[in-house]
Amino acid sequence: MTDRPSDATPSLPIVLSDEHRAHDPAFELNAGQAISPVYERPERLDAIAAAVRDARWPTLPPLPHDVSHLRAVHDPAMISFLQDGYDAWRRDGGPEVMIPDTFRSPRWAGGGRPSASPQAQAGWWCFDTATPIVAGSYRAARAAVDVALTAADIVADGAPVAYGLTRPPGHHAGYDYFGGFCFFNHAATAARRLTDGGRVAVLDIDVHHGNGTQDLFWRDPDVLYVSLHGDPDHEYPYFSGFADEVGEGPGRGRTRNLPLGRGTSDVDYLHALTIALEVVDDFDPATVVVSLGLDTSEHDPIGSLAVTLDGLSSIGRRIGQLQRPTLLLQEGGYAVEHLGAMATTLLGGVLTPGG
Ligand SMILES: [Zn+2]
Repeated sequence: MTDRPSDATPSLPIVLSDEHRAHDPAFELNAGQAISPVYERPERLDAIAAAVRDARWPTLPPLPHDVSHLRAVHDPAMISFLQDGYDAWRRDGGPEVMIPDTFRSPRWAGGGRPSASPQAQAGWWCFDTATPIVAGSYRAARAAVDVALTAADIVADGAPVAYGLTRPPGHHAGYDYFGGFCFFNHAATAARRLTDGGRVAVLDIDVHHGNGTQDLFWRDPDVLYVSLHGDPDHEYPYFSGFADEVGEGPGRGRTRNLPLGRGTSDVDYLHALTIALEVVDDFDPATVVVSLGLDTSEHDPIGSLAVTLDGLSSIGRRIGQLQRPTLLLQEGGYAVEHLGAMATTLLGGVLTPGG
């Protein structure tokens, strides 16, 4: 039996905004397909929003937050590119969807550097072809940061749990790069803001490794990053998320990766989650930030795992059993017709961990 929210379910403040719809590219590029349908599309968030409204959880709009929160996590020059780069691209005659075709490589002598070409600027900051930029992308990405920070404020002010319905997702974005459908890393931005109240653990349950979040806290002793994800030997983003990546310097031991095999089912997933939650508990964080990807689902069109609705309910209950202030932020999940039920089921588990 899965948990459905009811009148007996404790309340859950949910922050959401319609601004995400401004990011609505017509296509993306993926390996082996000249042009692909856009997996990361507005209908995803609208489906979850409809389901949480049906569940009668209170929703509220985001409040504007100063750009200093973003600058604490991202290179100011990348923020400027995301704000102005598209217009420069269009002025230069670039097509309506901005996707670079040339990318920097750190192996170039001196690391390379971007020329004045808008193509160079795009390929300097972006690392893949699956992250198209259109006229409204910056507005949507910036609104998602406000959603995350508003939800973080609610937890900092004493709520046991809050949920930020963030889109586009964020965990693939690092200090000076973006990609993987992500522009700004809102989980990292929120985690950095929440360190005002003590140590923060980021639990990343998206099927893809959160390379950006890992990088941002790689040397940080005050933020733990723990991720369960498809093994990089078969799952995007391919270059990180291996089990031997544990952080460096003062952050050594503050990163933990649990890569999972193709087709991992509920039992094996929950076994790995038990290990992850023990690591979180041992860290004794003041706040837990959950990068809530729903692309672990058996229905997901791009994820490689096979978690069921019952599995998501159990995942939610285990997170609730931590009994720590918890901020949930939406990351991936692309089975649009299932997203509403999956989100409310997992959230119901968080709210009623003994259920
Ligand atoms: Zn994902």
